Amino acid sequence: MENLEQENSLQITGNVLVPGNDGYDQARSVWNAMIDRKPALIAQCKNSQDVAATLAFAGRHDYPVSIRGGGHNVAGHAVCDDGVMIDLSGMRGVSVDAEKRTARVAGGATWRDVDAASQAHGLATPGGLISDTGVAGLTLSGGIGWLRSRHGLCIDNMLSVEIVTADGQVRRASEQENADLFWAVRGGGGNFGVITEFEFQLYPLGPEVMFCAPIYALDCGAEPIRFWRDFLADKSDRIGSLLEFSTVAESEDFPPEYWGKQVYTMAAVYAGDAEEGERVMQPLRELAPLATDFSGRMDYREVQQLFDTLMPAGQFRCYWKSLYLSSLTDAVIDEILEGVSSVPSPNSLSSIWNFGGATAQVAADATAFGDRSMPWMFSIDSVWEGAENDATNIDWTRDLWGRMQRHSHGGRMYLNFPGQGEEGDKLLQDTFGSDNFRKLREIKAKYDPDNRFRFNQNIRPAA
Ligand SMILES: Cc1cc2nc3c(=O)[nH]c(=O)nc-3n(C[C@H](O)[C@H](O)[C@H](O)COP(=O)(O)OP(=O)(O)OC[C@H]3O[C@@H](n4cnc5c(N)ncnc54)[C@H](O)[C@@H]3O)c2cc1C
Repeated sequence: MENLEQENSLQITGNVLVPGNDGYDQARSVWNAMIDRKPALIAQCKNSQDVAATLAFAGRHDYPVSIRGGGHNVAGHAVCDDGVMIDLSGMRGVSVDAEKRTARVAGGATWRDVDAASQAHGLATPGGLISDTGVAGLTLSGGIGWLRSRHGLCIDNMLSVEIVTADGQVRRASEQENADLFWAVRGGGGNFGVITEFEFQLYPLGPEVMFCAPIYALDCGAEPIRFWRDFLADKSDRIGSLLEFSTVAESEDFPPEYWGKQVYTMAAVYAGDAEEGERVMQPLRELAPLATDFSGRMDYREVQQLFDTLMPAGQFRCYWKSLYLSSLTDAVIDEILEGVSSVPSPNSLSSIWNFGGATAQVAADATAFGDRSMPWMFSIDSVWEGAENDATNIDWTRDLWGRMQRHSHGGRMYLNFPGQGEEGDKLLQDTFGSDNFRKLREIKAKYDPDNRFRFNQNIRPAA
């Protein structure tokens, strides 16, 4: 009897929560307030042995498994209904080897944790734009941050991982060890196992960097945007930029005549000397009358937290969709301007991101992520309040995204901004490319034949 009980219960060093337990509702809530799923069990793991035990338990009971890193996935993939949720938010340690310029990062860490530990040594690795986004989810589908121009995507700076696969085995993967698995996790998302530790390459940076953020009214029109496009053409190896459309809140940061008006921000970080960055990016700040200008030389960690207040966890309902653009012609800029002008929610953002530089240096078959030749990405980040406004905002997003499809770079999209992934296999096939997608399905069949990890942009195992 005792054996049977042990067989049916989960013994780990962290907490095990089931519906009704204190902390259960808090543990299942994530960044997007639309997500309200109820796992049968939540395992708050403290180490890789806890993860292995939880996976063995899930296997015995044939539960599907979702993985929570930073909880920021907009589609809410961290939480599942009626399965087991592995919660890694208690595993956030980061240790830096300053001499080797590497960092070991636990599977539930956020970018704030990584930046704090690495900047203590004057070092940094590309992360995202918001400090409380999880390292794991953001990295595993690529990872696009300010430093991509000089140092590439997050996956390009991953040296190895510790990963617990569906069979409960703790493995290391790198170019030298389990190389197929290492290839797959560089773009293939959370399909292949639970990553309990990442090893990243670090680079000297800052602490001071130049952050550029002049803000122009939407009715300044296309001319400044065309300048921004042409200006970046020979600087995408140093400048990571996004041109962000938003609506001004009633805030002391803006003159009252701009409250409620639509604007665009030419946000950019110079990945190098701050003084040089200030000089080089100055022209972006002189293109039209300014609504305001948040530019300045500042601590890299401050830059990494600047956008946090725009995106508080658990407050808003969200639906984000993206597509890579094959060019940003004058006509495409005009279409984007026209498209964003009808945004239904004042909390929504839409952005044009530049690529090129170090990101473009990696071959399409070198990582699962696929082709790197896209010069731009357009993301539509719809954010609103009230369930009664869901349909209006989702329909608007899908409509604009649909109209922009004819400018898309091979139908590809960034898998961290996929809406709800409604396009299924077609989305994955287009985004990874046929060869990479086939290889991913084979690797999935080897390491997760039962598709235990299916709450993600799901790669089904090859038959
Ligand atoms: C406010 C905000 C800002 C963002 N900014 C950026 C940005 O600047 N750049 C960018 O590239 N993306 C950005 N994103 C998108 C972000 O990368 C994705 O939402 C990503 O999924 C978040 O990762 P997470 O660990 O926080 O998510 P979670 O919701 O915890 O996890 C998402 C998925 O990742 C997988 N996963 C998580 N942890 C692990 C693990 N340890 N092992 C294996 N699989 C795991 C699982 O499949 C899980 O379902 C942003 C999102 C938000 C909400």
